[in-house]
Amino acid sequence: MNPIGFMILAALVLAAALDFLADALNLRRMRETLPAAFAGWYDPERYRQSQAYLRVNTRFGWLVALVDLAVLLIFWLCGGFRWLDEWVRGLSLAPVFSGLIFIGVLVAAKSLISQPFSVYATFVIEARFGFNQTTWRTFLLDRIKGIGLALLLGGPLLAAVLLFFQYTGGNAWWYCWLLAVAFMLLMHYIAPTWIMPLFNRFTPLPAGELRAAITAYARRIDFGLDNIFVMDGSKRSTKANAFFTGFGRHRRIALFDTLIHKHSVDELVAVLAHEMGHYQQKHIFKMLLVGIAQAGLMFYLLSWFISYPALFAAFGIGTPSVHAGLVFFGLLYTPLDLMIGMAVQHISRRHEFAADRFAVTTAPQGAALATALKKLSVDSLSNLDPHPFYVFLHYSHPPVMQRVAAIEGAGHSQG
Ligand SMILES: [Zn+2]
Repeated sequence: MNPIGFMILAALVLAAALDFLADALNLRRMRETLPAAFAGWYDPERYRQSQAYLRVNTRFGWLVALVDLAVLLIFWLCGGFRWLDEWVRGLSLAPVFSGLIFIGVLVAAKSLISQPFSVYATFVIEARFGFNQTTWRTFLLDRIKGIGLALLLGGPLLAAVLLFFQYTGGNAWWYCWLLAVAFMLLMHYIAPTWIMPLFNRFTPLPAGELRAAITAYARRIDFGLDNIFVMDGSKRSTKANAFFTGFGRHRRIALFDTLIHKHSVDELVAVLAHEMGHYQQKHIFKMLLVGIAQAGLMFYLLSWFISYPALFAAFGIGTPSVHAGLVFFGLLYTPLDLMIGMAVQHISRRHEFAADRFAVTTAPQGAALATALKKLSVDSLSNLDPHPFYVFLHYSHPPVMQRVAAIEGAGHSQG
C-alpha cells in the first residue's frame, strides 16, 4: 500500500472513531431525572424507554459501522478491487458498460449486505418499541421499487458521468456538474408528483376545521397554497412528520396521517406555519444552491484525482479507468464529505430556529408549536438532551429542548 492508500485508510478509521466518540459521549450524558421542561409530558416509564431506545440504536449502529468497515477493508486488502477490475476487463466491453458493471456489482453487494440490518432495525428494534407498522409485503415492495428507480434514474446518470470522463477530457467535470444540476432540478419537480406516490398514498386534505384553519393562515401570510395532502405514513411507522416539496405552482405540503391523529388543529397549523416558514425564508432554495455548489466542488476534485496513478496503485490496480477512479475517489472524498456535511447541518439547524421563529411570530396558534414538538419527541422517544458534539456531527435539527426554549422565549436570540 502506498501513502495515498494509508491516507484513505486513516481517514476511514478516523471517521469511524469520531462517530464512536460522539456516541459514547451521547450515552454518558444520559440522566435518570427528566428535564424540567418535559415534566408532565413523560411518565417515568416512558422516559426510561426513550433511554433504552437510544442505547439499543447506538449499539446497533456500532455493529453496522463495524461490519461495513470490516467488509470494505477485507475486500480491499485481499485484492477484491483488483480482481473485480480484471474480471470486468476480461469481458471486453466498451468502457461505459465495463464501468456500469464494475460499479453496479459494488453497489449491489453493499446493498445486499445492508439488507439483514434493515430487516432487524424494522422488524426487531422498531417493533420492540412499538413503532413498526411495516408489513413484509411493504418492505419487499419498497426494495423492488428502490432497485427499479436506481436502475431507471441512477443507471443513465452514471453512464453519462462515465462517458463524459472517458471522452471529454478537461471539460468533463463541468459537463457532469451541469448534468447533476439538471438532475437535481428535475428531481424537485418529479419527486412529489411521480416518485413519492410510488411509495405512499397522497390524498387531498378534506374540507373541515383543519383545512379551513390552514387556508386562513396561508392567506394571512399571503402564501398561495392549493395542494395540502395527507400521506399514509402509518403504512410504515407510528412516527409522525410533515414536509414541504416542490417550487412555485408545484409546491405542496404533506401531513402524515399519524400527525393529524395525535395533534390539535392549533398544533397542526403551527407545524405547517413552520414548514411554510422554510419556504418563505427561501431555505429550500438556499439548500438547493448549497447542494449545487457541493456537486461542483466534488466533480472538480474528481477531475484532479481520476487519472492519478497512485490512487489506483493504492488499490492494487495498474491500469487507470474512469469507473475505478470514481469508486476510489469516493473513498478519498469521505473526510471532506464529512466536514461539508457538518457545515451544511449547521446551516440547517439555523434554518430550523428561523422557521420556528417565523411560525411563532406569524401564526396566532404559533405557541402551540412548543406543545407539538414536545408531543412529537415523546411519541418518537427522541433523545431530549443529546451531547453537543453529537449534535454538531449528526443533527440537522436543533435538540428539542433548545427549540422549545427558543419558542417559549420567542423574540430572544439563541445560538
Ligand atoms: Zn423544519
